[in-house]
Amino acid sequence: MSSKHVLSSLTHASDDTEFFTPMPSAYEPGKTKYVVVLGTVMSGLGKGIFSSSLAKIFKDKGLSVSPIKLEGYLNRDSGTLNPHRHGEVFVLDDGVECDMDLGTYERMLNMDLSRLNFTTSGQIFSSVLDKERQGKYLGRDVQMIPHVTGEVKLRLRELAVATEADVVFVEIGGTVGDVENAYYIEAVREMAFEEGRENFCFVALTYIVEPKILGEQKSKPAQMNLKQLNAAGIHPSIIACRASGPVAKKVREKIALFSNVPMEDVFSMHDSDSVYVVPEMLRGAGIDSTVLKMLGLTDRTDIKAEEGARKIWANYIARFRSAANPIKIGIIGKYTAVRDSYASIIQSVEHAGAYLGAKVQLEWVDSTDLNDDNAGQQLDSLHGVIVPGGFGFRGVDGKLACIRYAREHGVPYLGLCYGMQIAVIEFARNVCGFTHANSTEIELDCPEPVIDLLPDQKKIEGLGGNMRLGGFDVAITENTRAYSLFGNREHIRLRFRHRYEVNPDYIEKLESHGLVFSGRSPVAPIMQILELSPDKHPFFMATQAHPELTSRPLDPQPMFLGFIRAALQRSGVDASAIPTLEMNDTPHHQSSDTAAPRA
Ligand code: GLN
Repeated sequence: MSSKHVLSSLTHASDDTEFFTPMPSAYEPGKTKYVVVLGTVMSGLGKGIFSSSLAKIFKDKGLSVSPIKLEGYLNRDSGTLNPHRHGEVFVLDDGVECDMDLGTYERMLNMDLSRLNFTTSGQIFSSVLDKERQGKYLGRDVQMIPHVTGEVKLRLRELAVATEADVVFVEIGGTVGDVENAYYIEAVREMAFEEGRENFCFVALTYIVEPKILGEQKSKPAQMNLKQLNAAGIHPSIIACRASGPVAKKVREKIALFSNVPMEDVFSMHDSDSVYVVPEMLRGAGIDSTVLKMLGLTDRTDIKAEEGARKIWANYIARFRSAANPIKIGIIGKYTAVRDSYASIIQSVEHAGAYLGAKVQLEWVDSTDLNDDNAGQQLDSLHGVIVPGGFGFRGVDGKLACIRYAREHGVPYLGLCYGMQIAVIEFARNVCGFTHANSTEIELDCPEPVIDLLPDQKKIEGLGGNMRLGGFDVAITENTRAYSLFGNREHIRLRFRHRYEVNPDYIEKLESHGLVFSGRSPVAPIMQILELSPDKHPFFMATQAHPELTSRPLDPQPMFLGFIRAALQRSGVDASAIPTLEMNDTPHHQSSDTAAPRA
C-alpha cells in the first residue's frame, strides 16, 4: 500500500485497519509544506530564532507562513511556569500564555499569533483523553501511536487549514532523545511518510563544542545525537551547526560524512550581536534557496517584494548598529540572574534604542538589596529605571524605594504591570498620605487597599489561565503624555496578564493629588496607564499592561520610545539631536483597529 493510499482512506479510527491519521475536512495533503526544526546536543541553541528567521525570509518572498511551537511538558500552557527556570511567559492577543519563543516569532514576522500556534503535551493528552471519554476511538485501546501522534498531526493540519499557510514552521521543543518530545518526532516522521517526503524539510540544529583545554572545535556530541535522530526515522535535510565562531570546513565534513547529509547542506551558524541579523546570515549562507528548492517552492516567490522587505529590515539593523549615545537603564527585579525572564523588555529597549540612536546598557538591580537609604547610590548613575511585572511580596520594599527615588529626583520611570501597582502604592503613601496603603496581594487585610483583586478574580479558585489575559482596548485621555506618544489616538490596544488593579474607590483621591490616569478600559473602571504631567516629572509613566509584548523592530512600542527619549535627555543629549519617529510611519499594530475587539 502506498503512503498516499494510507492517507486518503483512513482518516478516522476504524476497526478494520491499524492506520489512523485524522485531518480537518478542508485539508489538502501536499498543499502546505512543512519545515520542521529540531535541536540536538543541547537546548538553548536558538531553534526559535532559526525557525523564525527562515520563516521571515519566506514571508519576505511573498509566501504565507505560520509557525507552531510544540512543547514537551505536561502543563496545558506556560502560565504556571516559573520564569526563573523557563524564561518569561509570553501572552498572545487571544490570551494564551505561552513560551517566550512565540515572542521571537511575533517580532521577527511582525505578525500576531494565536492559540493555534502553540501546543503542549498537556493539551495533546487532555484532548486525547476527552475524545476517549466521548467514544471517539471506537473501542480501540488508545495508544501513543497512532492516537497521540494522530492528535499532533491533527494540530499541524488544523493550523495549515486555518492560516492557509504555504509553509508551516514546526519547532519541536527540547532535544532529540528526550522522552517528552519523542512522540512529536514520531508524529512528524509519520506525516512526512503520509504526505510525501517532498513536502517536508527537516532541519537539525546542532552544537559544535570547543573545549578551552583543546582550543579546537569537536563534532563528536553532534555526530552522536544526529545518529539518534536517524534512528528515530528522520534523516535531516539540513544541518545547521551552532558555534561561537564560524564552523571549520573539516568539522562540517565530518558531520556530513557521519550523518549522511551532503556537505552543501551542512551550514555554519555562529553567534551574532543581535537576533535580527540572523535572517541575513541565513540568506548569506544560501539556506533559504536550498529549502525553497527542496520544497519545490522557488516558482512561487516574489523577488521584488523580497527586495523591499530586505531594505526595511536592513534599515533597522543599520540604526541598531549605528546607535551611539550611551545610556544606562536599570531593571529592578527579583529574577535578575536570568535574562530570559525579561526577554521582551530587553528587546523593547533595543527597538526603541535603535530608532532613537541610543546604545543601551542594561543594569540589573536586585530589588531585595534596595531601600530608602541606598536607592540614591544605586540609581543616580542610571538614566532611567524600569520596574517590570511580578508577583508576591518579595522585593516589594526595594521597588517602592526605587520608585520613590525616581519620582522625587526626576529619574525617568517606566512601570510595567506590577511596576504600575507599586507606583500607585508609593504615590498613595508618600504623596497622598495614606501611610497604610498597600496591595491585597502583599497584605491581605491591609486597611488602605489601593490595589485590590479585580471583581472577576474574586470568585476564581486554582491557578492557570484565569488572570485577566490577552489584548484589551485602552481608551486614552486627550492632552496627556500617553495621547501624544500614541500619535493622538483615542483607542489603542495592549496586552495584559494580571489579577489585581487600582481599587476604583481610590481613583479620585489619587487624581486629586496629581496622579493622571491617562489610559482606562473603555468598558470598566480599570486603570491601564498612569503618568505624572510633564511639569512635575521628565517622564513618569506606568501601565497595567505589558507593552513589552507588542514592541517589534519594525514597530517600536510608543511607551518605550518615550522612556528612552527621556533617558537620552537625562544623559545630556539635546532634545533636538534625538530623531523623531512619526508613529504613523510604522504599521503600528498597537492600534486597536488592527485586532479583534475585546472588552
Ligand atoms: N501581581 C500583579 C497582579 O496579579 C501583577 C502581575 C504582573 O506583573 N504580571 O495583578
